[in-house]
Amino acid sequence: MSYGMIATWRMACDGITKGTTDLANGGSAQTAIVAAIKMVEDYPFYKSVGYGGLPNEEGLVELDAAFMNGDNFDIGAVAGSRSVKNPIAVAEKLSHERFNSFLVGDGVAKYAIKEGFEIQNMLTERAKKTWENRLAEMRNSNLSPYDGHDTVGMVALDQNGSMACGTSSSGLFMKKEGRIGDSPLSGSGFYVDSEIGGATATGLGEDLMKGCLSYETVRLMGTGLQPQEAVNQAMQDFAKQLERRKGKCGAFSLVAMNNKGEWGVATNVEFSFAVATDQLAPTIYLAYPSEDGSYPKIEVASQEWLDAYQARITAPIQ
Ligand code: ASP
Repeated sequence: MSYGMIATWRMACDGITKGTTDLANGGSAQTAIVAAIKMVEDYPFYKSVGYGGLPNEEGLVELDAAFMNGDNFDIGAVAGSRSVKNPIAVAEKLSHERFNSFLVGDGVAKYAIKEGFEIQNMLTERAKKTWENRLAEMRNSNLSPYDGHDTVGMVALDQNGSMACGTSSSGLFMKKEGRIGDSPLSGSGFYVDSEIGGATATGLGEDLMKGCLSYETVRLMGTGLQPQEAVNQAMQDFAKQLERRKGKCGAFSLVAMNNKGEWGVATNVEFSFAVATDQLAPTIYLAYPSEDGSYPKIEVASQEWLDAYQARITAPIQ
């Protein structure tokens, strides 16, 4: 039976490498998602997820995360979480609750402490310096404050045909206190149905949530479209609508996998993503948007690109 994982951004690759090793050994999609996203949350140099995530306008790290079980549609989510070490693990735990399965702010910490999850200061010195530098830059120029965001979103299929997905994000750098993005919102940042497939999004949450693009992608796969067709159609159609009705559309990138382990990607910006299946060793790809709305151009990330990425994310910050 097929298995696999697909995820947004290069940062997901170590996680899906571990996740698919577990899937190869008969592990569940649900467990693989949590283990894989935890790895991204724990690595301090990934500056838009978990520990080391980018602070809001007040210098506080506020994290969003969600988990969905494609077998029974259970969803758990947290938003504006300030002190939980692994928001994805708390989201998964919440997915088992009949009531109160989406918590925000202090409620997340209270629940996490009661359930024995680890609490930690999520602000690193590095993230604090990046924030201070940005404040100084913004005082001296007209820069948009919201430059810097990326969510890790993953979809997994296991050998029993179960699917799950999850997201984790610090949202927009310099966001207003209390701002919540698409990542913890069902249908927008993520959606999965084991009888069809799953999808997850990254980009400008304020626009992604207008189109419920993850749900739309799964719905289209349910009509018989291949993941590549479904995700491209969902994204392109809605991007066109936004451009027509509002004059602009934010950054949109989505990945999708169906319950056969087939996958697809759509984006309107340059975007990296990672895939591993029983047919494909963990691979990092780059996707480039097409001018005319057709499928993006996809290529395997070169060693040069990977080295430059690693050097960039770990470079000292003055
Ligand atoms: N979608 C996220 C948010 O708006 C950010 C991102 O994925 O880049 O919170």
